Amino acid sequence: MKSSSRPRLDRRQVLKLLGAGFAVASLDLGRATAAPVTAVVSSSALDWTLPPLTFTYQALKPYLDAQTMELHHAKHHQAYLNNAKQLLAGHPELLARGPEGLVRDLGRVPEALRLGIRNHVGGHVNHAFFWKIIGPDQGTAPSQLGGAITDTFGSMVEFKKQFADVALKRFGSGWVWLSLQHGALKIHSTANQDSPLSDGATPLLGLDVWEHAYYLHYQNRRAEYVAAFWHILNWTQAEQNYCAALKA
Ligand code: MN
Repeated sequence: MKSSSRPRLDRRQVLKLLGAGFAVASLDLGRATAAPVTAVVSSSALDWTLPPLTFTYQALKPYLDAQTMELHHAKHHQAYLNNAKQLLAGHPELLARGPEGLVRDLGRVPEALRLGIRNHVGGHVNHAFFWKIIGPDQGTAPSQLGGAITDTFGSMVEFKKQFADVALKRFGSGWVWLSLQHGALKIHSTANQDSPLSDGATPLLGLDVWEHAYYLHYQNRRAEYVAAFWHILNWTQAEQNYCAALKA
């Protein structure tokens, strides 16, 4: 079973499953139907499959260890996805809205399913976002986003300080985000698997501060884990997220 959770195999499985996933996703995202299949894999059209990592589980050492990465991706994320699909089995109309569509408008889902969707679909959406925002390659310095960060927070150093502060103050499990909302940048945190999308905010970068994300390596030293984030943050992706959010 262990080998089936390797990113390489996951990618192949995803490609094999893509037909079904793509059909479901395209019900809600008409514009995706015109895009080539490869573009769907790498675009924001998240479906009901586990997105493969674009790097190996070892690739983020020494900042994140391979065991943490494998458990986090192949077990924790997979569990959110499994629970979400189990919850939504028999609700094709909800599945068709896509994971992001559901968390974006929790008021439009049946009340009996709302908390489960918030937790499990939220977990799927947040982790899929996270795997794209981290990586061994930091990319290029963000030009537009970097400028907006300096304008908003005074400097990159001050931004990182405020981000870390919010991360450390998140009591219990949750996430810390830099989001765009009403045209402005904001640092905020969410509890559990709540998504910024549910509050009408668009996440640009974010960090999982659940203990499962860091405990094996950092134990209770969340501050060290948060400091390490700046070494594995993919700024190119953050810049893309910002540019896309501005256009939305
Ligand atoms: Mn997590």
